[in-house]
Amino acid sequence: MPTVKARAVFGLNQPFQATTIERRDVDPKDVLIEIKYAGICHSDIHHVKGEWQDENYPLVPGHEIAGTVTEVGSEVTKHKVGDRVGVGCMVNSCGECENCLKGEEQYCLKGMVGTYASVDKYGDNKPTYGGYSTHVVVTEDFVLKIPEGIELDVAAPLLCAGITLFSPLRHWGAGPGKKVAIVGLGGLGHMGVKLAHAMGADVTVLSRSLNKKEDGLKLGADRYYATEDPETFETLAKSLDLIINTVSANVDVDGLLGLLKLDGTLVNVGAPPEPLSVKAFSLIGNRRSFAGSVIGGIRQTQEMLDFCAEHGLGAEIEVISADQIDEAYERVVSGDVRYRFVIDSATLA
Ligand code: NAP
Ligand code: ZN
Repeated sequence: MPTVKARAVFGLNQPFQATTIERRDVDPKDVLIEIKYAGICHSDIHHVKGEWQDENYPLVPGHEIAGTVTEVGSEVTKHKVGDRVGVGCMVNSCGECENCLKGEEQYCLKGMVGTYASVDKYGDNKPTYGGYSTHVVVTEDFVLKIPEGIELDVAAPLLCAGITLFSPLRHWGAGPGKKVAIVGLGGLGHMGVKLAHAMGADVTVLSRSLNKKEDGLKLGADRYYATEDPETFETLAKSLDLIINTVSANVDVDGLLGLLKLDGTLVNVGAPPEPLSVKAFSLIGNRRSFAGSVIGGIRQTQEMLDFCAEHGLGAEIEVISADQIDEAYERVVSGDVRYRFVIDSATLA
């Protein structure tokens, strides 16, 4: 079993420490990836802060992985040594249920296997450790190809932030003639603006303040409003087809629903630990929908990567060393990130 370097936390509210973890031997269907970059998603922070569940330790987060293939198992057909590849939020699923067969492995009826903080119940039954590490072994079906034309550092965040926005934008038909708003201009949100703009939609950003307005317009937004300004909710009332909320904290769901046209949809992708509340009248008056969405299937993740290559899209990033993870977490929580921190895996060595 290969022993590889990683950064982990060993308890609630503990700082990251350099450590080693065991990766499994490369099975016939496995791919060994040398990780070059790993993005920091707010979900990593929810896990480390114990905001979602009781965690097992060591906890090695990271589900925005980009790297190169260094070994393949004897039965691998999709990838070869030297390929530029990515791994997102899941590393396995049952492969047999209705949802897996539809290519929606993230909704596997028996439960998908998370890239970290999970147990590979369809594989070796061992805990999974994420991308804050030098190498990872993943079954070939859950490994994505990163097209030429996207650098690995700006590709890494596409594996979670990118697909989490691409999937609902496609599902709810973002495109020409559709008015789409993205709530929260962080890691997910900034990808939402780029993707919705590239799909041809009219894009509005709803951020807490106007501090990032210039950036938002450069990323492709047509309009930019502050949610701290009550006038925003009057100006935009009943004007939008689709709103995607990416905020990591509680939001005024009723306020956002009021911005939707007849038959409009508010899709929640943010995952705050506390419940969101909604008034019946916010929905029934205009036949509105309040929906949710989690990442996207493997096939659609590849489609998203190819779409990004075709449109010249990548994440806006700040590359950090492994020693800066704790500091980066603080900066994400305080909103001081433009727009994704990415760990240079060479600094783990
Ligand atoms: P992020 O980079 O921290 O961005 C979140 C944005 O939300 C911030 O930039 C900020 O935007 C806004 N925000 C933060 N705190 C707020 C508060 N207290 N009130 C109002 N707005 C606030 O986080 P992320 O990585 O994009 O992740 C966002 C959320 O999505 C997290 O909860 C994460 O766990 C979840 N997530 C879900 C999925 C899924 O599949 N559904 C996938 C990945 C992540 P402004 O400064 O512009 O207001
Ligand atoms: Zn994520």
